[in-house]
Amino acid sequence: MIRIGVDLGGTKIEALAVDAQGGELARRRIASPSHDYALIVEAIRGLVIGMETELGERARVGIGTPGAVSPASGLMKNANSTQLNGRPFVADVSRALGREVRVENDANCFALSEATDGAGVDHRMVFGAILGTGVGGGIVLDGRLWTGANAIAGEWGHDEMPSRTELDLPDTHCYCGRRRCVETYLSGPALAADHARGGAAPLGARAIVALARSGEPGAKATMARFYNRLASALASVVNVLDPDVIVLGGGLSNIDELYGEVAALLPGHVFSDRCTTPIVRNRHGDSSGVRGAAWLWPPARQR
Ligand SMILES: [Zn+2]
Repeated sequence: MIRIGVDLGGTKIEALAVDAQGGELARRRIASPSHDYALIVEAIRGLVIGMETELGERARVGIGTPGAVSPASGLMKNANSTQLNGRPFVADVSRALGREVRVENDANCFALSEATDGAGVDHRMVFGAILGTGVGGGIVLDGRLWTGANAIAGEWGHDEMPSRTELDLPDTHCYCGRRRCVETYLSGPALAADHARGGAAPLGARAIVALARSGEPGAKATMARFYNRLASALASVVNVLDPDVIVLGGGLSNIDELYGEVAALLPGHVFSDRCTTPIVRNRHGDSSGVRGAAWLWPPARQR
């Protein structure tokens, strides 16, 4: 049976139809009516029905969203960019499509995509970490998503940034209401804010990386702080979960230097005589959201 994965973002809704081996059959992308909940549900229904008509086949449907479905209430929570919070999204989309629909956090979909047929495929426990406009994460064990009792497993982005090696860590405030969340140091906007904090001209993450490569001391110092903070925050994940691989996604995962720098710094923060955890780049890039949503209906194991 074919699968359709839907990635519901703040500005776009993307859908991908795949066969049982993950081969791509069709892809569609529309602007998201993110201000209007009823229109979001209707837009997803239209995308799925349109693709099924095009392909002449009924599909299993999985959806990746910001936030998560609360196990306590069945309602959406923690979504920062859409009108989903407090809504019975799973029930509404299932009713609109006339079938069971699976819904998961978008970082969980990323981790599932990379664990199923991406950069984490040969590892038992995969930690997928998103470094983008936000910081998220997901855990896959033996090919299955581990969502946790509160549906927040892997959400390291709202842990407090460790400050053992940086006693003058600047104070930050997160949209979640807490101070010093990991996300407020390791997202793209956070990297830009950190660079500007010392009085430098405001630059985006890409420009800061380019400047650091050219040898500009301020940008090099900003990136050194970023690498150290990333290693330190990932070490907390390693100390608790000890995953077999860490797969990075999101816009900042395109920084080539990050893999060597952070892998070299990580052992200094981990409570172990050795730490050989590989930190690798994702394989599916921007497609991991839709692919992981499709794999919410797991493939027959090839291994
Ligand atoms: Zn937070």
